[in-house]
Amino acid sequence: MKNEYSELEKVVDTPTSTIDILPTLLNLFGANYDSRLIAGRDVFSDAEPFVVYNSGAFITKEGRYSKYTNRFISNDGSQASKEYVDEYKEKARNLILFSAYIIEENYYNYLFTNKNVSNDLKKDMTAFNIDIPVPLDKKDYNHFVEYFKKCNENYINSKKLKGERLKKNQKVAYLTFDDGPNKYSNKILEILSKHGIKATFFVAGTNKEKGLKKIKDEGHTIALHSASHNYGYIYKNAESYLRDLYDLQNYVYQVTGEYVHYIRFPGGSRNKVSDEISLGIMEELREIVEELGFEYYDWHIATGDSSRDVTKEYVLSNVKRGISNEYDELIILMHDIHPITVEVLEDVIELCKENGYTFDKITDDTEPFHAKGVS
Ligand SMILES: [Zn+2]
Repeated sequence: MKNEYSELEKVVDTPTSTIDILPTLLNLFGANYDSRLIAGRDVFSDAEPFVVYNSGAFITKEGRYSKYTNRFISNDGSQASKEYVDEYKEKARNLILFSAYIIEENYYNYLFTNKNVSNDLKKDMTAFNIDIPVPLDKKDYNHFVEYFKKCNENYINSKKLKGERLKKNQKVAYLTFDDGPNKYSNKILEILSKHGIKATFFVAGTNKEKGLKKIKDEGHTIALHSASHNYGYIYKNAESYLRDLYDLQNYVYQVTGEYVHYIRFPGGSRNKVSDEISLGIMEELREIVEELGFEYYDWHIATGDSSRDVTKEYVLSNVKRGISNEYDELIILMHDIHPITVEVLEDVIELCKENGYTFDKITDDTEPFHAKGVS
């Protein structure tokens, strides 16, 4: 249609739905709107058109699918491949599922206030290959860099970062527990207290106030593991990793009033899984976190307490094998999220004692141990 406003007209020749109107208008008026939100698409954007109905029917560039006839009709009358149709069927299903999920989980609260909610949702979105909308707080890579530098300022200025640590004249074992706190953490804390041992907890998640406080009150070291513990999210790129760590640091600070500069990467600093998400990401992250004043800790002994069908014997054989390498300082990896860890912990302690080890928690005088090979 031509009229006096014709130079302002734009022709939209891609499939569009009513739900696209809001983002389109908001963008036109320059409103503070994030078009990466799940439902609806600015019709002038380059995003691939994809109109989905509640029923599961959908329209793509190539044609339309009817849920009732279970048939895809191409625009040009040709036969679309089964793979193509299946791919979009799944995309449509996920979009409907997650649009509902976003409302149920109050994900907008996270987006607009950056309150810590919906880690499970983030996790599921990654699993379903849906781009995770990023909060509108405009926090980007540089923001995180500045934030962490500030958190770690004192440590960065201390000599310890450069390796001048108090040498210990005895063999020391460091019991470290990842992924908690969790319902098994209390039992673990009881055992540690019974033996007068201080340990280190690389915590995960951001809804564990009670557990965190208890660990701190009992004098153990709280260290950072991951807010989401979702490989697809944290190892996507450096900004994603730092955002996750920021969520956790921020949370731990809110609960304990302290910033933490000890971290452990999910999977360890040389895990290979991350390469499938983003090739070479660990190399980049190892460098970045050190620059920001963090110390990252891998482990000398993986007890295997997270393995499937794990037995006490299996865990103890791993510990024995590790001990036989005669390290002066021995970092032992466990998880306070499994019953087996509770069952076997006293035997692990006994084994270490028999071999002349005392116990300590990670402090600034603990030499960071970085694995050389793949873990
Ligand atoms: Zn973990």
